[in-house]
Amino acid sequence: MDPLSLARLIDPLQMAAAQWSVATLAAQTLLTRGLGAAAIAAAQRQRCDTLVAHARLHSPFYRKRWRHLPAGVPALADLPVVTKQELMAAFDDWCTDRAIDARDIARFLGTRAHIGERYRGRYVVWTSSGTTGTPGVFVQDEAALAAYDALVSVQLAGSTFAACDWSAALAQGGRAALVTADCDHFASIASWRRVAHGKPWLDMKSFAVTLPLPDIVAGLDAYRPAFIASYPTVLALLADEQAAGRLHLRPAALWAGGEALSRAAREAIEDAFGCPLINEYGASECLTIGYGCREGWLHVNSDWAILEPVDRDHRPTPPGELSHTVLLTNLANSVQPIVRYDLRDRARAATSRCPCGSPLPAIQVEGRCDDVVACTARDGTVVRLVPLALTTVVEEAADVHRFQIVQRAVDCLVLRLGAADRARAAAPALRALRAHLDRHGLRNVTVLLDDREPQADAHDGKLRGVVALARR
Ligand SMILES: [Zn+2]
Repeated sequence: MDPLSLARLIDPLQMAAAQWSVATLAAQTLLTRGLGAAAIAAAQRQRCDTLVAHARLHSPFYRKRWRHLPAGVPALADLPVVTKQELMAAFDDWCTDRAIDARDIARFLGTRAHIGERYRGRYVVWTSSGTTGTPGVFVQDEAALAAYDALVSVQLAGSTFAACDWSAALAQGGRAALVTADCDHFASIASWRRVAHGKPWLDMKSFAVTLPLPDIVAGLDAYRPAFIASYPTVLALLADEQAAGRLHLRPAALWAGGEALSRAAREAIEDAFGCPLINEYGASECLTIGYGCREGWLHVNSDWAILEPVDRDHRPTPPGELSHTVLLTNLANSVQPIVRYDLRDRARAATSRCPCGSPLPAIQVEGRCDDVVACTARDGTVVRLVPLALTTVVEEAADVHRFQIVQRAVDCLVLRLGAADRARAAAPALRALRAHLDRHGLRNVTVLLDDREPQADAHDGKLRGVVALARR
């Protein structure tokens, strides 16, 4: 760590200022939302105008893209859609801080010890794993980080957590655990480490999702966290372990994100742990886009982010219809403006106000829905493999972003690669999967290269990264 970062991490004034700004933003957000939909829309409009004016003035990329538009602040609907590919290709021109340099950031990201630390002493940077084909690099300024933290505070102050047994949490030292892909600068681990660096008095520990489940269970049992955050598939596996008596946690709250969460899965997890589960919808492009409610909807933080469900030609999709994609505008982060960005998620807006009473717009998102794979070891033991762990080991080893792992039998997996990656990525990807299976005691499970490219599900049309035998 360079001395500047160290000074920042331990500077109490800095920490106090950041805390003050988070508390102020949280109070403002609660107040705005308390005033209802019109106040939320006004806050959105004001933040959007400020962001667009800032981008036009300070980002050469947007200045060029919007040069055909009249002077002043154009309406959001008049702005052209942008994609990850074009933003990443114009990285230095996209950023509004002219000192940010793609090669310099690549050097910073090249060191894993930097995960969650400040780049240039100011920014937090994370990468996306690139399930849509192109990995992304996302730079967050102080204002964005304060807004994300404020939104978490607002969520914790909400009705879902009213039922939390915080005294039990305090009795357990308020320990917090995250089970995630921690091998690179991904948004979840970078955010977690940032908070841990900034608040050294908190007891926080992360666990690699690529570890065998019994190791994760043993680690959590020894740590006894009051708060656990992970992917829905991991929490569901942990809930099974808890129900079977192999895990003995008494958490006050659970936090899920990164994958779709069905109502049935949420209820099973909450039942097993006896505490509420918050489901967060976020992305590397905007850490906190919305939260799930008890009625099974996601509510967009529309005072901080704009999500437009659109068809193939980027025309608005009517409420009730599944969109082709969604356009994201992140109102919190001005150093790397995300304005009408094609997020490639599909969503359906509610046709009426959600019965939960939230003034925020309700949507359903077709999230990542990869399968847990159950393999049988030589001694007959069933070993369940977390899909995010399988995809992470392949991405890390082979730098490949379009692939699919399909279970052909209880002791056979096949890997499908895009034609462009096949020659280069097949060998390292297969080696990584082999090592992962070996670590899980599955030496008897074979892993083969399939002739075919990744295939969408014939039944529901979804392209899954991991497909279990049960689905075939
Ligand atoms: Zn609701």
